[in-house]
Amino acid sequence: MTIQPKPAEHWMRLALNQARAAARMDEVPVGAVVVHQGQVIGRGHNRRETRQDVTLHAEMVAIRQACHHLGSWRLDQCDLYVTLEPCVMCAGAIVQSRIRTLVYGSRDPKAGACGSVVNVPDLPLHHVVQVESGVLSEESSALLKQFFQKRRRLDKQAGTRSSRHQQAVQQAGSTEAEKKPDPFAD
Ligand code: ZN
Repeated sequence: MTIQPKPAEHWMRLALNQARAAARMDEVPVGAVVVHQGQVIGRGHNRRETRQDVTLHAEMVAIRQACHHLGSWRLDQCDLYVTLEPCVMCAGAIVQSRIRTLVYGSRDPKAGACGSVVNVPDLPLHHVVQVESGVLSEESSALLKQFFQKRRRLDKQAGTRSSRHQQAVQQAGSTEAEKKPDPFAD
């Protein structure tokens, strides 16, 4: 029996769900999944603010989970799908973990390290990552745009960013509360 590989859009939709979970926690909406033999073995979204940990970008969370799942730091049979072009830190981790293919959604002209500002996968390193971009990029960009518009609007209204963030975390109940309604929905 042959298993039909799922299209990149399928996995990117799962990454977008992760990004939406980040937005509900007042985190910049970026999400990622790591896929191994047609299965998600790592998923994550940005948690930098909630945990006050600069390394908790979506890709890092997903990569860590995947390594834990396989019991190995080598992810050479894995593909990573992320909604936004990885930064220098994440692009470094992607190369280090030997990820086979990186698929990202929208470009990040300010901090993207996979073609926009620099191109880490193109450096003459020990491992070559295949890169594909632009998958469901409009959905990813729309999420980011909505998030920053809402943030600007709320910053103009009473609360400071940190008090608003606290409210979001309280309303979300826990860091894993993916199904809870958006506390900032109109
Ligand atoms: Zn990053």
